[in-house]
Amino acid sequence: MKAIFRGTVSVVYEHEREVSSPSQRMKLPSVLVLNEYIPEKRTPAFTRFNVFLRDHWRCQYCGDKFRTQALTFDHVVPRSKGGETTWKNIVAACQKCNATKGNKLPSECHMHPLHEPRQPSIHELQAYAQKFPPHFLHKGWEDFLYWDSELEDECVH
Ligand SMILES: [Zn+2]
Repeated sequence: MKAIFRGTVSVVYEHEREVSSPSQRMKLPSVLVLNEYIPEKRTPAFTRFNVFLRDHWRCQYCGDKFRTQALTFDHVVPRSKGGETTWKNIVAACQKCNATKGNKLPSECHMHPLHEPRQPSIHELQAYAQKFPPHFLHKGWEDFLYWDSELEDECVH
């Protein structure tokens, strides 16, 4: 709200719900844009949303597509075996595969990711994003803050 009043962001979409202060009422914004152009970072943020986008919402073990709520993350090399929480060691996985794999190395359970996980470029992510219907990604925006939280402490395996 402060950023809106300061003029550093503009409202793109609004919720129906209103919020009020002692002096005024306004509709709760849902999507904002920054008024100042920020040069594109060369590497995409390592976020939940971007990992799912890279993996096309597909479990990297069974290959099936899942809705966001049914997907989770897997450390290919488990943390207990020194695996890091990075682009190169995190893949999208369904809950069933994630549980089956547990704390095992791919070689120990014969579960190898369909695609070797790696850091995508911004352009790759943008190209993937264009393959999804606008409404689908808009859904993701509803959880934008949640999605944008770094993965570090969230993964179980
Ligand atoms: Zn799976």
